[in-house]
Amino acid sequence: MADIAAKVLVVGGGPGGYVCAIRAGQLGLDVVLVEQGGLNGGLGGTCLNVGCIPSKAMIHAADAFHHAVRQAASAPFGLRVERPTIDLARTIEWKDGIVGRLTSGVGTLLKRHRVKIVHGHAGMLDGKTCRVETDTGPQVIRAEHVVLATGSEAAPLAALPFGGKVISSTEALSLHTVPERLAVIGAGYIGLELGTAFAKLGAKVTVIEAADRILPVYDAELARPVARRLQALRVDVLTRAKAVGLADEGGAVQVDQEGAPKCTVAADRILVATGRRARLAGFGLERLDLTMNGPFVHVDERCATSMRNVWAVGDLTGEPMLAHRAMAQGVVVAEVIAGHRRVFDGAVIPAVCFTDPEVVTVGLSPDEARRAGREVHVGTFPFQANGRALTLGAEEGFVRVTARADNHLVLGVAAVGAGVSELAGAFALALEMGATLEDIGGTIHAHPTLGEAFHEAALRGLGEALHV
Ligand code: FAD
Repeated sequence: MADIAAKVLVVGGGPGGYVCAIRAGQLGLDVVLVEQGGLNGGLGGTCLNVGCIPSKAMIHAADAFHHAVRQAASAPFGLRVERPTIDLARTIEWKDGIVGRLTSGVGTLLKRHRVKIVHGHAGMLDGKTCRVETDTGPQVIRAEHVVLATGSEAAPLAALPFGGKVISSTEALSLHTVPERLAVIGAGYIGLELGTAFAKLGAKVTVIEAADRILPVYDAELARPVARRLQALRVDVLTRAKAVGLADEGGAVQVDQEGAPKCTVAADRILVATGRRARLAGFGLERLDLTMNGPFVHVDERCATSMRNVWAVGDLTGEPMLAHRAMAQGVVVAEVIAGHRRVFDGAVIPAVCFTDPEVVTVGLSPDEARRAGREVHVGTFPFQANGRALTLGAEEGFVRVTARADNHLVLGVAAVGAGVSELAGAFALALEMGATLEDIGGTIHAHPTLGEAFHEAALRGLGEALHV
């Protein structure tokens, strides 16, 4: 095969890589994107194939089933439902249909922007050349600029390697039957999103977490409603507990819990969700000898690595490992290569847990702001006092706004409650635009909506809340 020469070579077709390629194509650059496909994702990467989208589809289906079961049991809205059942294989087919539509949409968008797609595993030969193992033989690609976007993969636990009953989120999103008993190792967002979904589908779920509470990277106030809901769903949560191996010929997890005798948790499936690691191995990264930032590729504010004209975006470059961060970095790199003066500013990156209830954070928490030396005003508004939340039967949770005490500049917004993921954009916009409490308080919010809780939280920060 003749070598391919291009201005830009993008390695990896996840949110970081494909968005970079589309933007570079829009800017008239000659782009080649290499994607290896396979279980961990074709075009769209982890996010579209085995991450954000399939998990949210499963969470939605589990929620719908759970509501139907609840209606059948007690008909709180007077809706009569006869004993609902779920055909998980059909649910997976529906989820796969959504994934298929989105991933083929990415392919169409790339073609529309004249991005050449090469399918196969890329190995870097040097900072300008890679060799791709394609179905029809090796293909060499040379480019002026290389964008590394190889993403991340589920990190295994030494004591519980993947295989057999021990699965990662990827396999959990394609189970055709609901396990009777599911052990989830790790109470971060991935473990809790999937654990909650399986509990709603009828599995007996036990969560095993090494920290002293669930969602340890979120502040305790935000995690509390989620813990209450897990309890209501009869999910057992073992904190200060470590999964140290398999027991009973693989039918149970052996657990060491601080202050408690050793125990085992019987499980038909064991979901290890203790974290993800950057995908650094197996593609010749060592030949580039890039400066590292711990377990990630070091990049500067333009996403430039330590080698000239080699760029890196997305999970490969560190936390927060989120699709929207990867996409934003991808856009920056394409524009920098096209000659624009751009930097990636990660100060306002919303994070959402699609747990029950959902959790959103943007910017600083009150404690983080205080630790940064700020005196703050904090306004919190409970969904119990929000009409829309009551009509949705979802009064758990609140919106919390943190602002500087001196000039009322909003430093952070957080919320926990049903459907609050849809408020993330409004929260991020407020921070990005440098809003003050008065700006949010002076904005007319539609009634009845959950967004009114944001309005009222800002008013409360000013001591002027109307409905609490
Ligand atoms: P990836 O999406 O991992 O893409 C990298 C791509 O590179 C892959 O397609 C891979 O096949 C390809 N590749 C790697 N090496 C090579 C090679 N040598 N040659 C060719 N191709 C290669 N994030 C959110 O923002 N919101 C969520 O709700 C959310 N939910 C998640 C749920 C789950 C269960 C998981 C696992 C993740 C979730 N994430 C979520 C995280 C999100 O998926 C990642 O942050 C995002 O996909 C990172 O994008 P990326 O482009 O850096 O890498």
